[in-house]
Amino acid sequence: MAGDALPVAEWLSDYDVSQITIGVVASHSSLQILHGARQEGFRTLGICVGETRRKMYSAFPGAEPDEWLILDDYKQMMDYAEYLRERNVILIPHGSLVEYLGPKNFQILSVPTFGNRNILEWEGSRERQRIWLESGGCTMPRVIEDPKDIDGPVIVKYAGAKGGRGYFVARDFRDFRRNVDLEEDFTIQEYVLGTRYYFQFFFDPLPDDGYQVDGMGSKDGQKIGRLELMSIDRRDEANVDEFYKLGSLRDLRDMGLEPSFVVTGNTPAVLRESLLPEAFRMGEGAVAASMELEGAEQGMIGPFCLETIVTDKLEFRVFEVSARIVAGSNVAVGGSPYSDINEPGISTGQRVARCIRKAIEKGRLLEILS
Ligand code: ATP
Repeated sequence: MAGDALPVAEWLSDYDVSQITIGVVASHSSLQILHGARQEGFRTLGICVGETRRKMYSAFPGAEPDEWLILDDYKQMMDYAEYLRERNVILIPHGSLVEYLGPKNFQILSVPTFGNRNILEWEGSRERQRIWLESGGCTMPRVIEDPKDIDGPVIVKYAGAKGGRGYFVARDFRDFRRNVDLEEDFTIQEYVLGTRYYFQFFFDPLPDDGYQVDGMGSKDGQKIGRLELMSIDRRDEANVDEFYKLGSLRDLRDMGLEPSFVVTGNTPAVLRESLLPEAFRMGEGAVAASMELEGAEQGMIGPFCLETIVTDKLEFRVFEVSARIVAGSNVAVGGSPYSDINEPGISTGQRVARCIRKAIEKGRLLEILS
């Protein structure tokens, strides 16, 4: 896989680890990453295109980077790898970095990066995600291979769609046929009716206390690291969230309207407490299974998110995994009802910086970078 050959050890041998700078593309979840890095005593560097972005950060002095790298295009980062390494930069990846660079460039960017870049091959495809999550004991929404077999509400997801844009809901085959764009690749999933919860977990392979993940397969019986629940959010999605106010799906179609699932923001959530053991079981399964994925070597490291729906039978369906910090964790920049129990006010961004700081202290930095 693309990331396998990256000489991270060689890069690190030229680093002054007492002078690490946390670097991040100024977008997505960078406010908490920059703020958290500063709380853990790191210098920070923000990367952006154009001055408008930079100006916005002056509104948040607690997160304003110590230094900026201003580019004309994010893809220029590929040419700035040496510049970043000379500044002892560890990059914290998020969804926008991967999107702006493109997955291929991200995997070969020659800068030490927090977490495991090789897992992208598994995260980046719906089919591979299914293999991964199901082998970890998660139940996913049923896939309908043949549209003629649609026997209840389904959600049709186009391959290239981002953030739910262009998805549509169909009640039966006729409905599907009327709405589908056959030029595009799509997946048909059962529409799971229930309540959505997006779990922001953090897996730290270094500590040997707390909720320890039991390895499976080649790591069967081993305790492989600590799983933490940082926060839970729910996405605000336009326009599906407000659709019910306008009448039935049929009424809406008569008005020429289709529900859309475009993420506009997030709201914090807490889970019915008796469901938490199952949430941890799924998080643990996803981490344990990630260590067995071909080419993913170290498996999951750091923040990840399970996107779930809980039905009225109190059963979970996991419809997606993100293998890095998600923007939903922004609801907990000042802590969450879960992370506060362990340490008041800690965000996922600070947790990332803490993980790096502890790894430096233990001389184990290589284990959490790629
Ligand atoms: P992103 O990459 O931003 O997470 P995406 O394009 O991969 O988005 P999904 O996360 O798969 O899209 O789905 C977008 C939204 O569609 C979800 O947040 C949820 O509201 C809804 N959704 C997805 N799958 C299902 C399902 N099987 N049943 C009901 N609703 C679903």
